[in-house]
This record gives sequence, C-alpha cells and structure tokens, in this order.
Amino acid sequence: VKALCLRDGALAVRDIAVPEPGPDEALIRVSMAGICNTDLEIAKGYMGFSGVLGHELCGVVEACSDRRYVGRRVAGEINLACTHCALCRRGLGRHCATRSVMGIVAKDGCFAEYVTLPVRNLHVLPNSLPDELACFVEPTAAAFEVLDQITPMPRDRALVLGDGKLGMLVAQVLLTTGCQVTLAGKHERKLELARALGLTTATQAELEPKSFDIVVDATGSPTGLQQAIGLTRPRGTLVLKSTYHGRLSLDAAPIVIDEITLIGSRCGPFAIAVAALEAGSIDPRPLIDAVLPLHEGVAGFERSAEPGGLKVLLDMRELAAK
Ligand SMILES: [Zn+2]
Ligand SMILES: [Zn+2]
Repeated sequence: VKALCLRDGALAVRDIAVPEPGPDEALIRVSMAGICNTDLEIAKGYMGFSGVLGHELCGVVEACSDRRYVGRRVAGEINLACTHCALCRRGLGRHCATRSVMGIVAKDGCFAEYVTLPVRNLHVLPNSLPDELACFVEPTAAAFEVLDQITPMPRDRALVLGDGKLGMLVAQVLLTTGCQVTLAGKHERKLELARALGLTTATQAELEPKSFDIVVDATGSPTGLQQAIGLTRPRGTLVLKSTYHGRLSLDAAPIVIDEITLIGSRCGPFAIAVAALEAGSIDPRPLIDAVLPLHEGVAGFERSAEPGGLKVLLDMRELAAK
C-alpha cells in the first residue's frame, strides 16, 4: 500500500506493508488526512522523525478486537500512552514520558492507506460531519486545549498572533467564550477569510503594545514569542502554541518585569472538538486550500508551505475504491 514517508530527510510516496494492529489496536483505512505545520517542521528535521508522516485523520475501522468499532468512521488521538505510569494514572496520558506519537515520535502516521491506533484513542464521528471537516478534529482539539488552561472573561481582550490554520482555529475557539478577540497576521487574504468568520482582524503594526489580557502566539515562528511578550499587558497571560524546529534567543526580562504568565499548550480534548465542528461553532471550511490525492502528497507539502497557504488535505478515498 502507498504511504508518504520521510526517510533520511527525503519525503516521497513509497510502498509499505499494511500495518499490523496490536492486540488492543484498530486497523483504520484512512479516508482523508490534513497536512499541518508540525508536518512541515518534521520534514525539516524537527523531532528527528523517520517514517510515515501525518497525524490529522479520519478513516473507517476495518479490523479491531472490539467488534463495535468495525465499520465505524473515526478520528484518532495522536498520543500512544503506556497507560500505567504516574502521569498516565493521573489522566495525563498525552504527557506520558514513554509515549509514541502518530507521525511524530516512533509511530507511523496517517498519510497512508492504512494506519493503526489503540482502540482507546478512537473517537467515533457523527455521520453529519463530512470527511473534510473531520480532518480538523485534531487541530480543533488542540485549539480547545487553550480553554482547558485559561478561562477568558467577557471583558478580556484576547489577541491571536498568526493568521495560519491553528491561529484561525484558536481565534474561533476564543470567540465562543464571548471575550473580545483580535486575529493579527500578515496575509490580507487570510485576514479577509477570518473576517468572514466573524473575527476582528489587525495587522501587526496596528497593535498597541502591552494592551492585551490574553495573547496566543500561533505564528509558528521563532520571533513570534518576543512579539507576543511585547503585546501582553502586565499580569496578562501568554499562551504559546507554536512548534518549530530550532532554538530561539529571547529577552526574558519583560516576562519578569511585567509578571506575565506563560503557558505552553499542545494537544487537546477530542470530544469537545467533534461537538463544536458538528454544531458549526467552529468552521474550518474556509481554511481548506486544496484536496489532493495521496500520490500528490509531496506537492501537497510544497503547497501548504507556500507563504499565505492554509490547509491541504490528502484524499485516500479513491485508493479504497480501487
Ligand atoms: Zn497537527
Ligand atoms: Zn504513561
């Protein structure tokens, strides 16, 4: 079967064996999968990963020890936890020290005809949620993680820095809380899409320093954090959502002087994301730039890396029809 693999730093569609599900795992025939900035960073060397990329999927369970899942459409959580260490026992399996992560750490991903995942990672999807939207369950869950960490008040002024895929989702999630949300970015086309979603937008130059109660750095860039610090009011909260390859140099003094609360934020709650996408309170459709077949996966990566690019989905459904 076909899969988009990273091997020795080179990305290509290759033939691989159908993965063998473990005793508590499901074999999933992938329907569609989304290319994320994390994938682009991994292809550049972030995490030192080698194997099949991809971690945002929807698919149909083809084989599973738990018969109830067979034939069901699912999305899958990406962290494969050990289930018995101290963190796992505290319900923090997403932080299990010995976890593997689909398409990111020591586990083949979903840019393939088939992927395996533990049954406990599966979330059955409602029929009303089409494949295109179901691919956004994972990044939407990551956006909702912010609300697991902070509770915006209606009078709060929140700023999302970065008009990429994740920034647009985080801004929509913040908007559901009733606080005032501004999305700032560099790309007029994306800011226009954001306004069509009901968001207030700004260019970076229009932002008043130290004026936001909550700032989310979703720039995906090493310079984003420094900018975000300068825009957070004293005693404000800064949520760091960017993942990138490499280190940054930072003037940390303003964090101390302005007593800024800095929060790292990663994967989030799937069930809430599924419900929000089904209800339409989060609408990722304007974020879809292209849907390409798996064999055009390398072109899909190039397309999604273009400045101003948004979500590229890879479609494996044709392969299943053969
Ligand atoms: Zn992702
Ligand atoms: Zn564990």
